[in-house]
Amino acid sequence: MRPPSATKRVLKFGGTSLGSADRIRSAAQLIAGQVAETVPVVVVSAMGSTTDSLVRAANAAQLGEQETWRELIDSLEREHLEVCSDLADFSPGAEEPAAAILSHLRAVRELCQVAGAERGLSGTQLDEISSTGELLSAAITADTLNKLGLAACAVDAKQIIQTDGRFGRAMVAAQASEHLIRGRLSPLLADRVIPVVTGFRGATAEGSCTTLGRGGSDSTATIIGALLPADEVWIYTDVAGVMTADPRLVPSAKVIPFLSYREALELAFFGARVLHPNSMDLPRHHDVRVRILSSFEPVSQGTVIGPKVKSRPGVRAVVDTRDARLFTVGGVDGVAFTRVGTAVLGGLEAEGIPTLIVTQSSADNVICFAVSGEHGKRVREILRKLRDDTGVLGEIEVTSKAGIVVAVGDSMRGTPGIAAKLFGALAERNINVVAISQGSSELSVSAAVRAEDVAAAVNAIHDAFELGAG
Ligand code: ADP
Ligand code: ASP
Ligand code: MG
Repeated sequence: MRPPSATKRVLKFGGTSLGSADRIRSAAQLIAGQVAETVPVVVVSAMGSTTDSLVRAANAAQLGEQETWRELIDSLEREHLEVCSDLADFSPGAEEPAAAILSHLRAVRELCQVAGAERGLSGTQLDEISSTGELLSAAITADTLNKLGLAACAVDAKQIIQTDGRFGRAMVAAQASEHLIRGRLSPLLADRVIPVVTGFRGATAEGSCTTLGRGGSDSTATIIGALLPADEVWIYTDVAGVMTADPRLVPSAKVIPFLSYREALELAFFGARVLHPNSMDLPRHHDVRVRILSSFEPVSQGTVIGPKVKSRPGVRAVVDTRDARLFTVGGVDGVAFTRVGTAVLGGLEAEGIPTLIVTQSSADNVICFAVSGEHGKRVREILRKLRDDTGVLGEIEVTSKAGIVVAVGDSMRGTPGIAAKLFGALAERNINVVAISQGSSELSVSAAVRAEDVAAAVNAIHDAFELGAG
């Protein structure tokens, strides 16, 4: 047996990988299978669609819909207690996680009750509610490991992931978190105790709960991996790795064995849900390898993400954002494009809202940009306010049902004809392109299309670059 210090590994399990008692049992066995070579840090998402239910409950509570939120929380409680009892044969004495579940959900009920009385929840209260699923799954997973004979304990990431105060989409404070992560996790690992850390959650320096954005448990894992530091981070999910396209849209999509950090970053940013957009920042900086693999088919190698790899030049994957909003904003007569652009982009930047594509419309002072649908409402408000306050903006047009398709590849730089081939493939299938953009790094070429054309567009590009071949 290798000494425990030989490999430091972070293992992250997503919602589907923990979606039932059976899945939790498999995850625990996967972890147990690795303890001969490593004492891993485990990071868990909430089970299945728990987070969706919690968000719905919080919204209902804010609207004073008491019956709705109570039903949602009652049903989460039933589901989680059932999982505990299903695991009881495997982990007799499931009382411990059951007590934790009751106590965490009691806290959620109390917050919902407050919202009902006061008609509102603060950002931190919303984050506390939406990330409670991770507390539940961490309690169950740690207990399951214990009953397998492994020392493990649940760790609330509020103790180790310090963030800024942007509730709902917080960014990590790396230096403070490094100190906290090492201080809390290193002694556990030295004692061969497996920490089971809640994904998604963090806290401000003052201790208010934050979340890292939907899908943020990937980032929890890579933050810990980079700052502990670990040798590698393994992200277990429901597909066999990062694929040439979302397999739900393109049945012939193939697993990509190696990706550079920059390619993975680009893919994640443009909507390949398999990786959270912010999950590549720290591993890239600290050069920690990240492997994406299936918890359903754990023997497959998956995708390894590391420094630049020698690969076939050209497009490596095509990703999409299905639910985008496209804004076209004109300047009032006589105002230069740069002033219009500065006002608009400055307004978005102030709220930390990322753009998916940005283009200047011909010689006019018109800027066209797309954001992910979740930001649509807020961007409208920002633009209206800017129009009133600055006197620079004129007409604002919104296309609600837009999608963005993006071809990504590190070696696209210097490969001529990629854009021509991509737009040719879309034209051949009569797909109307609303806006186009090519990153100056030439890591990606993007096209905005109508939402209903996204699947056809992704397939057209996938076929044109023969990504499903070989
Ligand atoms: P988890 O719960 O494990 O975090 P997610 O649902 O967040 O899993 O991400 C996995 C899903 O990402 C897959 O089921 C797949 O539909 C989707 N996906 C989108 N684009 C890609 C891609 N390029 N490669 C692999 N999966 C992708
Ligand atoms: N449970 C959270 C979500 O559903 C975080 C995650 O799964 O990564 O968004
Ligand atoms: Mg995810």
